[in-house]
Amino acid sequence: MSYFDGKVPPIREDRLKACITYGGTICGLKKKAGGCCFNDGERGFTQGSICLLLPGIAILNSIPDSVVLLHGAIGCGSCAHSQNANVRSGNVQRGGKVKDALWMSTALNENDVINGGETKLEEAIREADRRYRPASIIVVAGCVPGIIGDDVDGVAAKLQPQVNAKILPVHCEGFKTKIWATAYDAVYHALGRNLLEEPEEILPIIPDEIADLKEKYYLERTVNIMNVSSMGRVDELELDRLLRSLGLEVNFFPNFVHPEDIYKVTRAALSISTCPTHDDYFLKYLEEKFGIPYIARHMPIGINNTSSWIRDVAAFFGLEQQAEELIANEVAELEEALGEFKKVFQGKKVYVSAGEMRALANSSLLTELGFEVMGIRAFHHDEFAEVEYEKLTEGGAKDYPLNIANAQPFEEVNLLKRTKPDLFIGHWHSNTTAAKLGIACHVAYNTGLSYIGYQGVYEMARRLYRYLKNPAFNKKISKNIRLPYTEKWYESDPFKYIKTLGGEE
Ligand code: SF4
Repeated sequence: MSYFDGKVPPIREDRLKACITYGGTICGLKKKAGGCCFNDGERGFTQGSICLLLPGIAILNSIPDSVVLLHGAIGCGSCAHSQNANVRSGNVQRGGKVKDALWMSTALNENDVINGGETKLEEAIREADRRYRPASIIVVAGCVPGIIGDDVDGVAAKLQPQVNAKILPVHCEGFKTKIWATAYDAVYHALGRNLLEEPEEILPIIPDEIADLKEKYYLERTVNIMNVSSMGRVDELELDRLLRSLGLEVNFFPNFVHPEDIYKVTRAALSISTCPTHDDYFLKYLEEKFGIPYIARHMPIGINNTSSWIRDVAAFFGLEQQAEELIANEVAELEEALGEFKKVFQGKKVYVSAGEMRALANSSLLTELGFEVMGIRAFHHDEFAEVEYEKLTEGGAKDYPLNIANAQPFEEVNLLKRTKPDLFIGHWHSNTTAAKLGIACHVAYNTGLSYIGYQGVYEMARRLYRYLKNPAFNKKISKNIRLPYTEKWYESDPFKYIKTLGGEE
């Protein structure tokens, strides 16, 4: 039985034994590898976490011609405000039109908690369909319907014959999981259960064998590239350029794909991930149900990672020789262009903080550019990252602190005080913390900038060169702003609040 047969996907704590707590070193984690069952559990003190609604609606709001209907308390999904810039710029970059995310909320209140929220949900679905005539209405369930027992799938099934839009229930009840990456599974679960059916084919009156052969040839060379909401169009175009230069066709999925085109993901020869922790749940299903093999191994950030990513695809199609020629040309040109930058980067210290795959891939890239990695913070850990830890620790590489933390800025600030990097790569609250310490910062992702492929290496180097040439702004900030922590905390063990299973705090 497939996970997709159930209404709700499993949480990652159960499916992957993923975890959010580790305080140690990168080599220490490597020794623990082999499943993600660390002997640690929780923290005795925690500053915050991430609800899976955040990454979930980052993808869902990008789906064109759709209404995202938050079924939950009024605050659930308010992060959509901050994510809207991505949706607007993403729409402009892909279709040339400024278009905002379209989202609504049932704004459940105390009365609904007592009496149930199903009636409100029915009214909201009808209203969304009447007002906007969208291709799909994506009902995202938060904690409240999960706690009071609203039958979101039942309401969707009951209303489906009455509305034009396809109704997709997505289960993002935040209380069920501390691994926010479960959101990817929840989104893919909804797309996989509701939108993969091919539309009925209209056969031509006179059969066209040439067109059929062309279509067959096209599909045999088509690769699904799984995009992520943190990837801008500029990064997609780089991957598109690299695979097309091998004579392959490309289909990006799922961000910014129209509901009526979602099924096209079932018509490819191969799927390749750009972030294995993002995609494994859906790629396994595509293989099981539609026989499409997949590769989920490398994130194409950094020179070696990009080359490995290309080699994987090329090997599947028997294009190894063409791939080696492409890689040799690209890398030679890139290395020449990086020469000036590398002189400035040599020996500079960097701390990296992001989602696990991106944090590790960025660390590989920064090592290639000549930086010394002083520490890494990743938001969670699961088995897909083990290959990246191997790369960073191979050949007796230097050991350094590793923090697996679902936020917890207090641990990060302590580590930054100890490791004293020249540069910080991160996002969310982290860059603010680093800036207040006077450290030059750069965002780990920004959909308007280039990060991926060989072009991403060059563009990243160009930006870092600029920041390091003049870090005066953050240095001035640090002289005028203080962080809310005491000196005593900076002297304490950064991991003192991590509880070990069966042990002391
Ligand atoms: S944790 Fe629950 S209540 Fe909070 S934003 Fe997420 S779904 Fe809403």
